[in-house]
Order: sequence, then C-alpha cells, then structure tokens
Amino acid sequence: MSTYDYDLFTLGAGSGGVRASRMAARFGATVGLAEGRFLGGTCVNVGCVPKKLMVYAAQVSDALRDAAGFGWTVPPAHFDWATLAKGRDAEVRRLNGVYGRMLHGVGVEVIDGWARFADAHTLDIALSAGGHRRVTAERILVTTGGAPVRPDIPGAERALVSDDLFTLPARPDRAVVVGGGYIAVEFACILHGLGTDVTLVHRGPHLLRGFDEDLRAHLTEQLRARGVRLILNHTVRCIESEGDGRQVVLEGGDSIDVDAAFFAIGRRPSTGGLGLAEAGVELGAKGEIRVDADYATSVPHIFALGDVTDRINLTPVAIEEGIAFARTQFAGQPTRLDYANVPTAVFSTPPMATVGLTEAQARQAGARIDVYTSEFRPMKNTLSGNGDRSLMKLVVDRDSDRVLGVHMVGADAPEIIQGFAVALVAGATKASFDATVGIHPTAAEEFVTMRERRNED
Ligand code: NDP
Repeated sequence: MSTYDYDLFTLGAGSGGVRASRMAARFGATVGLAEGRFLGGTCVNVGCVPKKLMVYAAQVSDALRDAAGFGWTVPPAHFDWATLAKGRDAEVRRLNGVYGRMLHGVGVEVIDGWARFADAHTLDIALSAGGHRRVTAERILVTTGGAPVRPDIPGAERALVSDDLFTLPARPDRAVVVGGGYIAVEFACILHGLGTDVTLVHRGPHLLRGFDEDLRAHLTEQLRARGVRLILNHTVRCIESEGDGRQVVLEGGDSIDVDAAFFAIGRRPSTGGLGLAEAGVELGAKGEIRVDADYATSVPHIFALGDVTDRINLTPVAIEEGIAFARTQFAGQPTRLDYANVPTAVFSTPPMATVGLTEAQARQAGARIDVYTSEFRPMKNTLSGNGDRSLMKLVVDRDSDRVLGVHMVGADAPEIIQGFAVALVAGATKASFDATVGIHPTAAEEFVTMRERRNED
C-alpha cells in the first residue's frame, strides 16, 4: 500500500500534463492534477486552437478577393471582430469542458488552484476558491508550460504579447508585430488578413530562423508581396503612448504610429513560484527544467515534460512525451520518443511546413546531398489573380538515396507535409518518391514528380 495520497500528481493541465495524467489513470494509477488557470493550457486557450480559428477567418479575405476571377460577384464584405471573438471563445470553452470530462472520465482528480512544492513529495495547493490543501504523491510531474517573454524596454507595459490577441476587444487598424519567429509571422498574417495595416519589425535579416534558407527567403518575399510591411535588421528602443495610440520607436529614431504593438520575441518556461529549489529540482540557464531521456529531473521521482523543459516546444511533442512517460512509469512499457523528423508548420498565409533536415543541416551533418526544388504559381491562382507562389524542396542523401528533408511554402503545406512525414519516418528513398504516382491536379504531386536536381556541387 502506498503511503502517499496519489501515485502521480501533475502540475498544469496543458497538452502534455493532461495526456500523461489520463494515460497514467488508465493504467491504474491514482492521479491528481492542479491547474489554476484553464484546462487545456496554452494550445487550447491562447495558442494553437484560437490562433487557427483566426487564421481561417483571415483567409476568408483571400477567398472573397479571389471570387471575382471565378465569376462570382461578391457584395462589399464587412468583417466583425466581435462575431469572430464570440465564436472563437465559445469553441475554447467547449474544449475546456471536453478536457474536464476526459479527465473526470478516467478518474483524475482535478484541483482548481496553484500547486507549489513544500518538499520533494508534498505539494501545497493555493485553492482558487480560497484556502490551501496539502497533498502527497509518489511521483510528481511538472507540466507548467511556458509564457510569452515581455520586452525589457521603456514603455514595455504598453506592449501586447500573444495571449492578448485573444482578449482584444476590437481589431486594431494599425499594428506593429515585433519578432521573426512562429508567433510574429502568424500574428502578422492573421491581422493583415483581417484588414489591419501591419508592420513586422525583426532584429535579424531573415524571418524564421531554423527553417530552410530557401523557404525563409521565399516566405519573406510572399509576405512583402501581400502587403505586410517588413522592417528587418531593426530593434525597438521604446514604446510611447498618445491617448489610445502607441508610438513604436526604433533604435535609430524612426517611429511608427499604431493602435497595437505586439511583441512575439519568444517564450520562457514557467518555473517561477513552484518551489522547485525546495524540492531540489535543477534548472537550466533559461529557467527550464532539466530532464533525462525519460523526463526525470535531478530528483528521480519528479518528472517534467513539454514546454517547461524547453526542447521542441510543440503541442504534439508534449502529447507524445506524456504518452511515453505514462507508459514507462505506469504500464511497465519503457518508451522513448524519437525526436528526429518532427514535422512542424507556420500557419502564415501562405503557410509553411517542413519535416526533416534543412539543406544547411544536411550539409553540416556531412551528407553529400542532392537538392530538388519546384517554384510555381498554384493552379487556383491562374484564374483568381492571387499572386502567391509556392515553393517545394526535397533534400536527398546522395549515397543512400534517403530523403532527408521535405519543405514547402504554399496553400495546404501543413496538410501535405503531415503525410510526407510518415514517409520520412519510414525511411523513404527518392526512388520510392519517384515510384509513387501523383494525384493530378494537385500541388502535392510535385513532390513525386521532381526529377531535375538543383546542385551547386
Ligand atoms: P521563437 O523563439 O520562435 O521566435 C522568437 C523571435 O523573436 C525570433 O525571431 C528572435 O530573433 C526574436 N527575438 C528574440 N529575442 C528578441 C529581442 N530581445 N528583441 C527582438 N527580437 C527578439 O518564439 P515565438 O514567440 O514566435 O514562439 C515560441 C515557440 O512557440 C516557437 O518556437 C514554437 O516552438 C512554438 N509555436 C509553434 C507554433 C506552431 O507550431 N505553428 C505557433 C506558435 C508558437 P532571432 O531569430 O534573431 O533569435
């Protein structure tokens, strides 16, 4: 008989924590979970889900513009922010309910409050309803995720971060988005699609560090062509205010008058206030919890996974980590995740998606590679007049013929790359791509009809 209240206690009801808790309970563990904010974490409440709903809304403006080329006469369209916000928030609330029922359904006890380590096996929970509760657990899992970094500049309190997009009462007419990562690019495209005049300010020469260079350059061009104003190689000195308006002052003195200034300059692991030091849990330089290959921290019965460990900060990765953790700890099935070939997408307009190695990564790894690219105007745009152009790229290991990377900027890229990710995980060769019959007419068929190598060496 265990002397603890729970076999597992989880801090944080985000994607990883919820999946790990549910699976552990299914395997027969007694599980408790504390969450002081909302069920579903960043993804459901202030990330993937509400963001994607807004991406859909933004892309309607393209459909309306494209309609004329297909013979449709569309009356002047009007966008109502409140209608979108109401529908989006209702969907998020529905999902909160689904998460609650899923946890309840497998017997996970959800405690509404903020937990903090009192010692390595004991948590003190400040209950949202008031008062405190102490619980003990044999194993403890920290899945508290991350939070947007706020800028450290004068007037920072006048800046918005990604969470704030989802509580904004009205569409800003003019906005600055600072940053060049996933969130900055996605937010710039959402706001632009909804009719905001958008300026994106990034400190580097290119957006989306880490992605394939050709795709970065192509997407940058596409955003410019669509009318997103890009100010590269610049940083923000301060933010001033004039009434409800904001003045974003750049280093060098230029300033931009806007209604909203969003900063998307990264996210930081949420480890503050958890009492991790009291429990003996070691943190890394960015405040992330350091874990081994089985998610164990420096204290063997305390585990962490997902964004709080700051490795691959993606919802599906946290979910898979949660599954691996629960199987290993509670089902006697040691499971480790393969972090190679994790596909990912930026939901920009047009979107970008990728799996495997970039050309630069493949070269760095010492591979002799062949590169295949195809840049084209999608068929739909021949009648619509939409100026978007797609780019697709394959990186192939010349010696083994294995496809090392599949990359795309263009409509439906995330949907297309998901399927090719299976091929990469299965170890597909270029010959197997070539032996695959295309579906015509699609953009995806380009990946199985690329024959011309684009090699410099
Ligand atoms: P990222 O880490 O992706 O990008 C941060 C950006 O901010 C970079 O362009 C970086 O520039 C820039 N930056 C960092 N510090 C400063 C600074 N002090 N001043 C100016 N610019 C700065 O962070 P995001 O906030 O965009 O997203 C966080 C993470 O969330 C992503 O990495 C991803 O893992 C996840 N995410 C995934 C999504 C998806 O799957 N579609 C969508 C949204 C988020 P530089 O390149 O020069 O370092």
